Amino acid sequence: MGSEGSKMSDNTDSTSFQPSETKLCPNECGFFGVVATMNLCSKCYRDFRITEEHAASAKVIMDKLVDGFRVEICAGSSSSAVETAVES
Ligand SMILES: [Zn+2]
Repeated sequence: MGSEGSKMSDNTDSTSFQPSETKLCPNECGFFGVVATMNLCSKCYRDFRITEEHAASAKVIMDKLVDGFRVEICAGSSSSAVETAVES
């Protein structure tokens, strides 16, 4: 009897849960989005993907810039350290 009851509740769970439920796009563009695309509509999801790719490539450029900047700082600090040593 007990096992039969748990089976029943399992069925109700799967029927009440709707993975294809649509919600309004959070960008308030008036379109509907789906959970698979973070509730974004297809248009805003594409924009989001493009922005994400741009951010990823921008991060690589930033890493290279920071590396070059660090080298310059290291060269400057080492030369000033030599000057201080000569002074004293
Ligand atoms: Zn949208």
